[in-house]
Amino acid sequence: MELFDVTIIGGGPSGLYSAFYSGLRNMKTKIIEVQPVLGGKVNTYPEKVLWDVGGLPPQQAQQFVQNLIQQANTFSPTICLNSKVELISKHDDMFVISTNTGEVHYSKTIIVAVGGGILNPIKLEVEGAEKYEMTNLHYTILGLERFRNKRVLVSGGGNGAIDWAVELLLVAKEVVVIYRKEQLTAHESQVEKLKEHGVQIMLNAEIQSLLSNDQKTAIQEVIVSQDGETYQLEVDDVLISHGYNREVSLSFADDIQPQRKDDYYLEGRGQCSTSVPGIFGAGDIISYDDKVGLLVGTFQDAVLAVNNAKLYIDPQADKYAMVSSHNDKFKEKNREFLKRSILQS
Ligand SMILES: Cc1cc2nc3c(=O)[nH]c(=O)nc-3n(C[C@H](O)[C@H](O)[C@H](O)COP(=O)(O)OP(=O)(O)OC[C@H]3O[C@@H](n4cnc5c(N)ncnc54)[C@H](O)[C@@H]3O)c2cc1C
Repeated sequence: MELFDVTIIGGGPSGLYSAFYSGLRNMKTKIIEVQPVLGGKVNTYPEKVLWDVGGLPPQQAQQFVQNLIQQANTFSPTICLNSKVELISKHDDMFVISTNTGEVHYSKTIIVAVGGGILNPIKLEVEGAEKYEMTNLHYTILGLERFRNKRVLVSGGGNGAIDWAVELLLVAKEVVVIYRKEQLTAHESQVEKLKEHGVQIMLNAEIQSLLSNDQKTAIQEVIVSQDGETYQLEVDDVLISHGYNREVSLSFADDIQPQRKDDYYLEGRGQCSTSVPGIFGAGDIISYDDKVGLLVGTFQDAVLAVNNAKLYIDPQADKYAMVSSHNDKFKEKNREFLKRSILQS
């Protein structure tokens, strides 16, 4: 039985930055992530260019994830992938974390960083749709090149769908957007970009059926119903962005049930603490007034959660946030870093 100072549930941006920062504060750290990869929901938009993270030049989300992972590994935390945390309980002063693999983990504190839970895309409910998932029916875009010079039908009208439609304009021959409601619900500026490019937007429209090619391997045409009419659209690829079903597998023993908001979010009690001493929250999962639901907000949450976890374990510890120069481990790392920079210049 190995006891950790802090165990972080979820390896998205808030979990990864928590891992870095708890290393900075000399805490023995573990991350448990259900997916086979780290990065959280940023992995659902790998090609998106991020402009809004302080101090970072614009970069694609997949690069951003790699940077986050590299930073999280600075103090070599223990990382468990493919492991879904199902139950957290408490015995004496120790949290006991049970996972779907049967493995049990032990920790003095917990940082819950599970974001919106385990996200599974809402599938297209059309007969036989699943058989095209191996070819040209997509629920996310893993690389834009795949769509170069293609006719792509995007189904959905929220931010996810419209952001993708805008990205596709860079490579696709033609983009058509269909949405079942009267108005697109995405950010206006993104919708404007589609309009400027003359993208065909079909509102009050839904996919009725999919027609395959002769080999029955891929979708060749999509039958769309709109206002009682049906239309047959030739396509090379179909992207479905109807949102995600949230699987909430994480539960707490009866005696340590944190207060929730809207039956899901952890209700913050200041400084990213929850109603249960020793359990903290960071990122999209924690709710409090003036919360910033962006990547930059996850970093602030991580710092607050880690600092409070530190104080929970050692009430004499420094109350204030530490910076890089406060940790001696950086002295050696700085020497190596500066040597490399000089050699490169
Ligand atoms: C389409 C889209 C575009 C976005 N664009 C931007 C942008 O341009 N700029 C910006 O600042 N923000 C953007 N965001 C928001 C940003 O991605 C989120 O705020 C951020 O990912 C939240 O990080 P998190 O770590 O709190 O949660 P998540 O990223 O959701 O990570 C949570 C992690 O916890 C894991 N997990 C869940 N349950 C368990 C469990 N029981 N056991 C183990 N692991 C578990 C999940 O698998 C996941 O890896 C965007 C979001 C979306 C959906």
